[in-house]
Amino acid sequence: KKNLIIFGTRPEAIKMAPLVKLFLENSDKFETKVCITAQHREMLDQVLDFYNIIPDYDLDLMKPNQNLYTLTSDIITELKPVLEDFNPDYVYVHGDTTTTMSASIAAFYSGAKICHVEAGLRTFNKRSPFPEEINRSITGRISDYHFAPTLTSKQNLLNENIQESNILVTGNTVIDALDYSSAIVNSEEYSDQEIEDLKSVVDASKRLILVTGHRRENHGEGFINICLALKQIAQNHEDVQIIYPVHLNPNVQKPVYELLSNQDNIKLVNPLSYPAFVWLMNKSHIIITDSGGVQEEAPSLGKPVLVMRNTTERPEAVEAGTVLLVGTNADKIISETERLLSNKKNYDTMSKLHNPYGDGKACQRIVDFILNKSHE
Ligand code: UDP
Repeated sequence: KKNLIIFGTRPEAIKMAPLVKLFLENSDKFETKVCITAQHREMLDQVLDFYNIIPDYDLDLMKPNQNLYTLTSDIITELKPVLEDFNPDYVYVHGDTTTTMSASIAAFYSGAKICHVEAGLRTFNKRSPFPEEINRSITGRISDYHFAPTLTSKQNLLNENIQESNILVTGNTVIDALDYSSAIVNSEEYSDQEIEDLKSVVDASKRLILVTGHRRENHGEGFINICLALKQIAQNHEDVQIIYPVHLNPNVQKPVYELLSNQDNIKLVNPLSYPAFVWLMNKSHIIITDSGGVQEEAPSLGKPVLVMRNTTERPEAVEAGTVLLVGTNADKIISETERLLSNKKNYDTMSKLHNPYGDGKACQRIVDFILNKSHE
């Protein structure tokens, strides 16, 4: 049977790479090819380099100031010859990006079976996050097989009348990726110039707050508030260092560099390669983010996370108390960070190890499931 795995952004690449690897190891059973849309370019290539994945098809679609209209139509149009050339039995898409939704439509036109990895996450608000909630809902509607990371996401799919036999709870492949990269980063023979460079940035005498942020709904006023809050936290606490790998989106770069460049204990750095980021997550005391993936990774590393969003499609760690939603209100970000920095009891409660997102064997479950289906 023939597999085509399609992705386009950094988080999709991180979460699909372990699946690519596993399918390639099973080359006696599957012919597997990788197609990237390159909705992100540099940040995607960083992940491919780490995993030594050379895409079979590179649509190279990223454009300056790209917009959703042209991106969506370009992906569908450009995938046509790829699908006709390879003629896959199964097409795999991940999560909720414009690549995910557009590729699943193209795959549907081609007649391939569509396999949705990280299926069933919902906020139940079609405009938030925009456009992700609609991307994943449409993909869920079109997909044949749904790999849900948790029971909650499975239940969301059942509520949408998806047939139970087509849903498999796998855990999130992000834990497969984290296990793989942690083992490499922590091994003695591993040498990485980026981690060496970070060691000279990290001030080991200070408590480290790691920040990431990129979400579209936070562009504009949201990021200004976030930056003002970070500045205040840095000014209030000389014993704290904030490290912020700044996303390449210009809507993020502009406010962050304008507002945070001149504060000694805030270090702005370029987006880090995945292993360097994993290394830094391990070193951090608190993580402040609006990222989906980081929300899933940090609880399994025992790091308290403040999420700069008002809702999340990942309620599991919020319910367990290791992730807290703080929105983009500067006062709220400051006060909740304060509660963690100055109250050990609060910190200890939030930093308990908790991993609702899987056991690192999600990809094996997916491969086994498809193997069974291909024999039916
Ligand atoms: N990440 C990374 N380098 C960075 C920041 C994040 O490799 O400088 C990783 C992080 O570990 C996580 C993923 O990128 O697995 C999250 O990507 P992002 O926040 O862009 O997207 P989201 O998860 O919100 O879709």
